[in-house]
Amino acid sequence: PELTAPAAPLTATHCPYCALQCGMNLRGPGPGEETVQVVERPDFPVNRGALCGKGRTAPALLSSRVRLTEPLVRSAATGRLEPAGWEEALERVAEGLLRTRAAHGRDAVGVFGGGGLTNEKAYTLGKFARVVLGTSQIDYNGRFCMSSAAAAHQRAFGLDRGLPFPMEDIPRTGCVVLVGSNLAETMPPALRFLTELRENGGTLIVIDPRRTRTAEQADLHLAPRPGTDLALALGLLHLVVAEGRTDEAFIADRTTGWEEARSAAMAYWPELVERITGVGVPQLRAAASLFCDASSSMVLTARGPEQQSKGTDTVSAWINLCLATGRAGRPLSGYGCLTGQGNGQGGREHGQKADQLPGYRKLDDPAARAHVAEVWGVAPESLPGPGRSAYELLDALGTEVRSLLVMGSNPVVSAPRAAHVEERLRSLDFLAVADVVLSETAALADVVLPVTQWAEETGTTTNLEGRVLLRRRAVSAPPGVRSDLEILGGLAALLGHEKGFPADPEEVFEELRRASAGGPADYSGITYRRIAEEDGVFWPCPEDSAEIRHPGTPRLFLDRFATPDGRARFVPVTHRAAAEEPDEDYPVLLTTGRVVSQYQSGAQTRRVDELNAAAPGPFVELHPLLAERLEAAEGDRIAVVSRRGRAVGPARITTGIRPDTVFMPFHWPGEGRVNSVTNPALDPTSRMPEFKVCAVRVERADAG
Ligand code: SF4
Repeated sequence: PELTAPAAPLTATHCPYCALQCGMNLRGPGPGEETVQVVERPDFPVNRGALCGKGRTAPALLSSRVRLTEPLVRSAATGRLEPAGWEEALERVAEGLLRTRAAHGRDAVGVFGGGGLTNEKAYTLGKFARVVLGTSQIDYNGRFCMSSAAAAHQRAFGLDRGLPFPMEDIPRTGCVVLVGSNLAETMPPALRFLTELRENGGTLIVIDPRRTRTAEQADLHLAPRPGTDLALALGLLHLVVAEGRTDEAFIADRTTGWEEARSAAMAYWPELVERITGVGVPQLRAAASLFCDASSSMVLTARGPEQQSKGTDTVSAWINLCLATGRAGRPLSGYGCLTGQGNGQGGREHGQKADQLPGYRKLDDPAARAHVAEVWGVAPESLPGPGRSAYELLDALGTEVRSLLVMGSNPVVSAPRAAHVEERLRSLDFLAVADVVLSETAALADVVLPVTQWAEETGTTTNLEGRVLLRRRAVSAPPGVRSDLEILGGLAALLGHEKGFPADPEEVFEELRRASAGGPADYSGITYRRIAEEDGVFWPCPEDSAEIRHPGTPRLFLDRFATPDGRARFVPVTHRAAAEEPDEDYPVLLTTGRVVSQYQSGAQTRRVDELNAAAPGPFVELHPLLAERLEAAEGDRIAVVSRRGRAVGPARITTGIRPDTVFMPFHWPGEGRVNSVTNPALDPTSRMPEFKVCAVRVERADAG
């Protein structure tokens, strides 16, 4: 018989990209193969084997010729980035940061992290900033992702976890209201939950200014003017009250603050809401009925309502609707946020956020500082206070913040008012970037540190459900790259901290468990072993012991909310205009978003041939009426211009967008960089920039 080599063993792991964290198996590389193969993993309940193109092609970057495999240092002689050894590169970083600190003080050194970093890296980066650099100036790109939902969660429920229930509950509820989420593009495997919902007799309402592929699945699609989701939610609450559909027993037993929230909403008569949002009164009434007629309902938001200068209040308005109708803290009901980045949830729990310590503790809470300081072996008073939020930090570069370490982020493409951010980065005294590829931000750096990728290292992430997962090492990293943990440990040693920065992820996780113990996001009962055995553990999960094994918490708030009195808090909110409304000079609204074959700033996915072929560049989606005014045909180059900048892309003409609005995806640099146009106006609570709406002028790029 013919002899065949035994197949290489499978390694169960998770996709490196979005917050769904789809399960997958990796095999190989086998003899003669360059890289590992993705093999279906049907037993993981979130995606049951399904993957989108990004997940399927994720191994391509492991063996890509464009990945960085040696450090780069900017040459004083040529001004160019030149290959260097690790010793020289790390010394240059340590010197650069120390020089700034000596000349301008600790807070002149900044750190910018990423929502794709594993829990261990996010934890170590926060500790490195506060213990080694002693700076308060650390924040991360997750601020641009779901911070408004996080802030609204905190003030209503006393705890922020993206979804308070597993995704598997979605098909079993009666009605889902999906607000500003295009799952068909962002998380295709999650669409099946909505398909199953409708197969089970449930209804789907999608709220989006565009008739997206997700909206096409809906029983009811409402297309409000961008920036008016808050008024829409208030209008629905008004109707619910007016039609006697509130759940008075629930309000009395499990909430506080109803009177103020109710009277705020009663000012939003349906006719007024129609004028603000453009959504007709009959559609509003239909939505209110579908939501209340179902025996259980959910509201799920994503970046649409959240990335606004009133994002926190907008999410609060949707939470108020859930609370008023008793659709929270009950099985198969509630409000949830569909987080975006791979570790968008865990990334915000372990201390890389400007105002937080590990375990989702507040940096200005004396008890939290004392607890974490003890774990870190430092005096509580040595820990700096809260720092600037992400955009404010980027805006302060070159002035108050003179040196920056960037890990896992590409703000040149992903930050609002990106040309200004790029200019600020160029004005720094010193910039170091750790990344897999020479991203647009890394290209500006004085030192670039090449790092290992997802399949080359082990670590945990926390998906949008609060399920802590284990990504496992399946393949060796090329010689010449180091893990982010090794880099931080090496820098800590050069900066005088010989201990406390291990490179082993499990060792870091053990410390993270202790640092999170007793905090809102308590991981103390979670171990690598348990995650492996149970295929994920939901936090909060307090200490595991021989006598008690806490089962983890897939469903939150069923008995009580996480507020001091156990009651959810209504927050009275009112609608306000976007920071920038259309006028004579800029008469059109711009909204931005994503396409299925690219991920975030595109630093990784633009370098995968198959994805690049599927989505090679940006486009400007516009309505035929607007195209006619411009005398533009499909494919013509269209310029979208705001007070901050200009972005250009080919026209995509569709009736699936409002005539007063244009849409551009944000994954590309260069002339198609739509974040050159977006508005950095910040939400006063979450400090989220207003990516989703600003005023623009639209013209033929070749005109004049
Ligand atoms: Fe990866 Fe998200 Fe695609 Fe799943 S949906 S394969 S997690 S990018």
